[in-house]
Amino acid sequence: LNRRLAAFGTTIFAEMSALAVRTGAINLGQGFPDTDGPEEVREAAVRALRDGRGNQYPPGPGIPELRTAVAEHQRRRYGLSFDPDTEVLVTAGATEAVAATLLALLEPGDEVVALEPYYDSYAACIAMAGGTRVPVTLRPDAEQARFRLDLDELRDAVTDRTRLLLINTPHNPTGTVLTRAELTAIAELAVERDLLVVTDEVYEHLVFDEAEHVPLATLPGMRERTVTIGSAGKTFSFTGWKVGWVTAAPGLVTAVRSAKQFLTYVSSGPFQYAVAEALALPDAYFDAFRADMLAKRDLLAAGLAEAGFSVFRPAGTYFITTDIRPLGESDGFAFCRSLPERAGVVAIPNAVFYDHREAGAPFVRFAFCKQVSVLEEAVKRLKTLA
Ligand code: PMP
Ligand code: GLN
Repeated sequence: LNRRLAAFGTTIFAEMSALAVRTGAINLGQGFPDTDGPEEVREAAVRALRDGRGNQYPPGPGIPELRTAVAEHQRRRYGLSFDPDTEVLVTAGATEAVAATLLALLEPGDEVVALEPYYDSYAACIAMAGGTRVPVTLRPDAEQARFRLDLDELRDAVTDRTRLLLINTPHNPTGTVLTRAELTAIAELAVERDLLVVTDEVYEHLVFDEAEHVPLATLPGMRERTVTIGSAGKTFSFTGWKVGWVTAAPGLVTAVRSAKQFLTYVSSGPFQYAVAEALALPDAYFDAFRADMLAKRDLLAAGLAEAGFSVFRPAGTYFITTDIRPLGESDGFAFCRSLPERAGVVAIPNAVFYDHREAGAPFVRFAFCKQVSVLEEAVKRLKTLA
């Protein structure tokens, strides 16, 4: 294994899901729903398979139906207009979108300013592209029970070597949804320092309470300098299909496609047809999905609090970050490794998402995209910890 990758070992999601299988524990670690998405979307995939649509290599940029559906989704939800032919690229999930974007845009030695804790593939992809991570740590704000971006720290992180800002909102693993004010400050900084921004918005439809998802590309000066990443896995509960996309200005999409063509070339043929249909579902689908996840968030947040965790109530995503110190614990790694034995539950230590491991040490993430009965059983078990 080369030096760029040696530091990364095995992704925590594989490690923890294997632990869940081995111990029979309830898996609230890796973020995947335990119920498949809408029947009609599954049927659309079956129809495509049967009709022989997408069983051979689809077009490199993605099938026109899906590119059009992505553009239409961005228009309908956010008033953003993208040309399906030159400004939309279909990828093998958001994971490939992140990889191809970083591989396409970074020169060796370029700095990438990213919000820490970050989704684990970011660090590995920046390294594979020869870039350097410059983390800006989201700080727990006990009063607001959320993780907050310090805009001065962000500003200070930008240097002459900064090539791009890598943003994620709603944010995995903290559940923070960046506010319009925070995003406006990010946008102003990007314009002032002439930076590209890559924004991972895969949880765009999972936003709760008063929080609002503001796509960065909608802010002044951002349409031309932003690569926006989306995914069907999260929005339609088909994480195994690996259908994602990039929307950006033509030059940026062309660059990302240059990298993507040599990674997978294409993927998920029949599923692309199904996702094109899914994106056209009426608002009622998206509202019901959000309401379902909101109820699950409330159930698990209340249960974790009763079990003695300090809970950061997420404004978005399907993850809850907790602080384990009220339980008399301080090392999230040790806690998560022993949790299956102690309570029959698997969770993720947030420290894996940090360069400053100590900053993430006491935080542990639980996924609530699970059936109510599963969440209830998990809570019952976790209450035995206290
Ligand atoms: N970005 C974030 C923030 C995620 O949580 C995930 C995990 N699903 C991904 C990207 C990867 O998405 P996909 O499964 O579409 O590759
Ligand atoms: N995004 C999911 C999570 O954060 C998992 C994706 C993966 O396993 N790579 O849990």
